[in-house]
Amino acid sequence: MHAMTAAPSFTVDLTPTPTSDERRRQILEAPGFGLHFSDHMFTGTWTPDAGWHDGQVHAYGPLSLDPATAVLHYAQEIFEGMKAYAHADGSIWTFRPEANAARFRRSARRLALPELPTEWFVGAVDETIRTDRGWVPSGGERSLYVRPFMFASEVFLGVRPSQRVTFCVITSPAGAYFTKGVKPVSIWLSTDYNRAGAGGTGAAKCGGNYAASLLPQREAAEQGCEQVAFLDSVEHTWVEELGGMNLYFVFDDGSIVTPELSGTILEGITRSSILTLAEDLGHKVEERRVSIEEWRDGVASGRIAEVFACGTAAVLTPVGTLKWDGGQVGTGEQAGAVTLSIRDQLLDVQYGRAEDPHHWMHRVC
Ligand SMILES: *Cc1c(COP(=O)(O)O)cnc(C)c1O
Repeated sequence: MHAMTAAPSFTVDLTPTPTSDERRRQILEAPGFGLHFSDHMFTGTWTPDAGWHDGQVHAYGPLSLDPATAVLHYAQEIFEGMKAYAHADGSIWTFRPEANAARFRRSARRLALPELPTEWFVGAVDETIRTDRGWVPSGGERSLYVRPFMFASEVFLGVRPSQRVTFCVITSPAGAYFTKGVKPVSIWLSTDYNRAGAGGTGAAKCGGNYAASLLPQREAAEQGCEQVAFLDSVEHTWVEELGGMNLYFVFDDGSIVTPELSGTILEGITRSSILTLAEDLGHKVEERRVSIEEWRDGVASGRIAEVFACGTAAVLTPVGTLKWDGGQVGTGEQAGAVTLSIRDQLLDVQYGRAEDPHHWMHRVC
């Protein structure tokens, strides 16, 4: 469809009314998560005739959508989540952006959306970050969260793939996920609901999967748990993942296991990086099926020493308690040593404090 090699050229149209330096400094001191947005955003458009075109960075602001815009009705939408990190020398980096670009293309394929060339994806993310580099917080575990997304923007109520698609990138400064030290989360095992079904969209990063996880997530909260874990939808036996994070199990012999990709699990870039990192750190690492019995019995017997969840937003999150209708097991209120060592190693690479032997880091500016 396109010459994939030529780097696209985007226009940059700076906002005449940027946030004041004082207000921005105030926001960057305590950004929270997903609350504040930088001054600029990226948009690009796809149509069958013109392909991807009109890529531009411009002032952040509301989109005006006709009420019949297809995405509002049929949820033809995908997104990505990544971060920009400020290193000690002031340079700004992203982590494995080509992996996000590749996953974005896979998600697009499943949702019958047009595939965005990697040059467009990485170029748009870089240009947006460069334009708002003053919004990348430094210090601690702060970062600029980057949210690329794509949606059906054709005004049409017929059910078919949209003939007009909009791609955007917005960015949002993010504070440390754990503000008072890394603390284990509690997990509710959902038995009434599944996140994804065989042949469905579980392996695609689409808003619809998240919509389906909100009710079970609310059920988890009612049970006093912070996150919800899902099993496979056929046998109700195999551990899949949380609503937005993958799972890892650390055994008492130091070996590490994560559920193998089943077609209904989202392939996290944090998950895949940990497969490599844990091996670098000397752990035996395995992708295989893990049953809910193995999780429960393993934690109860001590055979499973640590459980953690992983994803871009929270990096690595220790899991303390697993609770279900009828009981619970826990590994305690302390983060495990293996969880913490992998977490530190990954953060050290991302923040430029450690060697990057796998060339994961990408310099933006
Ligand atoms: C995004 C996501 C993850 C984590 O992926 P990362 O690339 O590590 O951020 C895990 N599960 C689901 C359902 C997700 O949407």
